[in-house]
Amino acid sequence: MRIVKYPHPMLTYPSKPLLKIDQTIRDIVAEMFELMYDNSGVGLAANQVDLPYQLIVVNPTGEREQKDKEYVFINPVILKLKGSQDGEEGCLSYPNLRLIVPRAKEVKFQAIDLKGQPHTYHWKDFEARIIQHETDHLLGKPFFLKATASSTDLEMALLQMKKQYLKDLEAGLEPTPEQFQENVKKWESERT
Ligand code: ZN
Repeated sequence: MRIVKYPHPMLTYPSKPLLKIDQTIRDIVAEMFELMYDNSGVGLAANQVDLPYQLIVVNPTGEREQKDKEYVFINPVILKLKGSQDGEEGCLSYPNLRLIVPRAKEVKFQAIDLKGQPHTYHWKDFEARIIQHETDHLLGKPFFLKATASSTDLEMALLQMKKQYLKDLEAGLEPTPEQFQENVKKWESERT
């Protein structure tokens, strides 16, 4: 498992609801948490690890030891947004970007946990920012489209990432469009 970087096609692919939670999914979740901690993240969406599922892992503390702060959100649905806040965001799929992104200050949302149980959550401030960022991932919406300011040259940074991606594609390190479609079809047919 690896974190895919912009402009990998999975990052703009709208994820499908997960209809089956099996041991493979539980293993994927454990691996996603490890990857997230290894990269100093606080949230990770399944399409960031090349899986087309509506699945998110979050730990607002970013601390591997704080297991009680770990959340798994399956098929999340935002029910209500309230207020607004400006704040800086980064993303593990865009490692060189730090952007100011306006978000709602409070979010009420629903999601299924790893046991298949539905829950309703009411998150505020930083936690609300995380869940909005991650649910945007599942919709295939890149976070830089919502940014109002950047401390780096956004266009230049995106161009650099594109150049690197094309190099990796040529070297066979990234999937061709055909391989990508096959991969999506396989994962979707198994659990969506
Ligand atoms: Zn992200």
